[in-house]
Amino acid sequence: MTLNEIPANVLLEKKLCHGAPFYVLGPIVTDIAPGYDHITSAIGGALAASHGVDFLCYVTPAEHLRLPTLEDMKEGIVATKIAVHAGDLGKNIKGAKDWDDEMSLARQQLDWEKMFDLAIDPEKARRYRKESMPKDEDSCTMCGKMCSMRNMNKVMKGKDINLLREED
Ligand code: SF4
Repeated sequence: MTLNEIPANVLLEKKLCHGAPFYVLGPIVTDIAPGYDHITSAIGGALAASHGVDFLCYVTPAEHLRLPTLEDMKEGIVATKIAVHAGDLGKNIKGAKDWDDEMSLARQQLDWEKMFDLAIDPEKARRYRKESMPKDEDSCTMCGKMCSMRNMNKVMKGKDINLLREED
């Protein structure tokens, strides 16, 4: 089902079934991505959830290809949990945004342990950082000295930043 068809289908089903809880698999929003159907379904699931779907079935990357492995199942479950949370945010469910706000604060503070604790998959987040450690704790290897958090925090403390200077 394409993205633009999801909201009307959800509203119609909820109306015809007098608001009864609605459970969907996906919807998978494009059929061109075998091996990535946990993503195609999470995209549709997030939109469906934000429009009133109550329960999402998880889809693994192995969908249409083979029986899923344990790792496939983990990827599918994590992708679906992300879709559920995105749906809760879209519906403005009380308290849903607190999680994101806490993560935003941890990011601004460059508090890596807090970010790992809050991550939907702490093991993966921790592993990725460990695999590519920056020279200093106050950034990551994506932007290094150009880290906007690092530099904004320094500016907020009144420091003059010149990224061409070695010590900055
Ligand atoms: S270096 Fe870039 S990607 Fe990494 S934390 Fe800073 S802003 Fe984010």
